[in-house]
Amino acid sequence: MGDQRGFMKVKRKDAPYRPVCERLEDFSEVSAPLSPEESARQASRCMDCGTPFCHWGCPVGNFIPEWNDMMFRGDWAGAFGLLNYTNNFPEITGRVCPAPCESACVLGINDDPVAIRENELSIVEKAFDEGMVKPFIPVERTGKKVAIIGSGPAGLACGDQLNKAGHQVTIFEKDDKPGGLLRYGIPEFKLEKKILERRLSLMKEGGVDIVPGVNIGEEVSLEKLLEDNDAVCVAVGAGHPRDIDIEGRDLGGIHFAMEYLTQGNRLALGESLPREKLISAGGKKVVVIGGGDTGSDCVGTANRQKASCVVQLELMPRPGECRSEQHPWPSYPVILKTSSSHEEGVKREWAVLTKKFLGEGGMVARLECVRVEFTREGESACPVMREIPGSEFSIEADLVIIAAGFVHPQLAGLLSNSGIELDEKKNIKTDEKMMTSIGKVFSAGDSRRGQSLIVWAIAEGRRCAYNIDNYLMGRSFLPVV
Ligand SMILES: Cc1cc2nc3c(=O)[nH]c(=O)nc-3n(C[C@H](O)[C@H](O)[C@H](O)COP(=O)(O)OP(=O)(O)OC[C@H]3O[C@@H](n4cnc5c(N)ncnc54)[C@H](O)[C@@H]3O)c2cc1C
Ligand code: SF4
Repeated sequence: MGDQRGFMKVKRKDAPYRPVCERLEDFSEVSAPLSPEESARQASRCMDCGTPFCHWGCPVGNFIPEWNDMMFRGDWAGAFGLLNYTNNFPEITGRVCPAPCESACVLGINDDPVAIRENELSIVEKAFDEGMVKPFIPVERTGKKVAIIGSGPAGLACGDQLNKAGHQVTIFEKDDKPGGLLRYGIPEFKLEKKILERRLSLMKEGGVDIVPGVNIGEEVSLEKLLEDNDAVCVAVGAGHPRDIDIEGRDLGGIHFAMEYLTQGNRLALGESLPREKLISAGGKKVVVIGGGDTGSDCVGTANRQKASCVVQLELMPRPGECRSEQHPWPSYPVILKTSSSHEEGVKREWAVLTKKFLGEGGMVARLECVRVEFTREGESACPVMREIPGSEFSIEADLVIIAAGFVHPQLAGLLSNSGIELDEKKNIKTDEKMMTSIGKVFSAGDSRRGQSLIVWAIAEGRRCAYNIDNYLMGRSFLPVV
């Protein structure tokens, strides 16, 4: 532990955001990282508390107190070595992880938690700057071949680990470019795609074959992959969106978030799209239905496309600003989150149910809504939603984006054609070793655990790699939480 009294002397400092007027004119990342010197001061706030709950909070089990200490002492190489051992993509989690570790930080009980996520970013970016991040080229190959379906963080982490174990890995991706939601979901202003490209290049140099533009289950069958490989990992994400099936849903101008964000990411990188397919918020009154992170990404994209106004509707009531008794420390709390996109301009409404879309000339023009409340009736533990009489109102809109979450993986194609068994939520069912109902076929990430986070996808990919390595070799030396 570097400075025993660091937490008493240094206040938490977060990386500042660029001014709103500046960042709305481009799609570059909104935050400007702290200097390594300031990050090292921030690291001194870590108390090395003896029972570090941040380990428990971090799904990949990052050695947080240890690398905080190394940072503070200026041992950046040591800090990077430890970080690299547990997390395949710290430059990504260091930018966009919601940091469940910080919610579990012991200092957070009566002060601001340690800025763990930003410290992680500082370590890995310094390592990149100083040439410490190198491709991993295995000394020996095992002669075993593994195919991975899906190139999101789960598939990439699984492939990266299996390559480290010496297996020959091929990652297939149905989109034109790899990365999954890292590329086409998360906007450029949160995660610039050059960060993803830098990591993909390292993986390719290390010997991982990444093959985009191939839809497994449609263009190439799972049987064919099984013939050509010793094991397969299915990491196809949770791509089936939750719809809002109400009157007027078939009007023009109503789109799912991923249709909008995929285009937004392509446009931000200078691609041109056919005019008839273009979904742009430019000059429009935009309503985003869904108050979560995906909705917030749509708000940020719409403001950069110069929407005339943006409203975000959420069905649930406005969360409190502090932890409630339902979410005590060290659990991840449900509290009001105000993202950089919210700061850029949006009217947020909570406890609103959309009842009907109304149109003009086949295009959406208005939403009819009502306010709702949630009450517990009788002994029932679950709150029941009730419309508040007389609270009906309408909102003008010429672009509506549905960001109401994802329910399970896309079933058409691979999953319906291959007969892989699904669980009751229609996610991929596996045993405790992550093997599906088909021998040799494993699964990881959102398609197995349901819609989640990048850090969970990485953790799942790593655990799946460990299980596949064990299956192929009868033992595995890959680290796993
Ligand atoms: C808009 C948005 C913003 C988000 N922001 C954050 C954030 O800031 N922080 C965070 O922690 N999490 C965030 N998440 C969640 C996070 O992105 C996901 O939990 C994570 O990407 C899941 O990883 P995955 O590898 O399981 O799946 P995905 O990233 O969905 O990747 C699955 C890949 O499989 C491919 N695929 C599917 N079927 C086939 C097939 N048949 N053949 C070949 N390829 C196929 C898909 O095209 C896709 O590329 C966000 C999610 C969304 C939608
Ligand atoms: S990956 Fe996420 S949870 Fe883990 S240390 Fe980094 S910010 Fe915290």
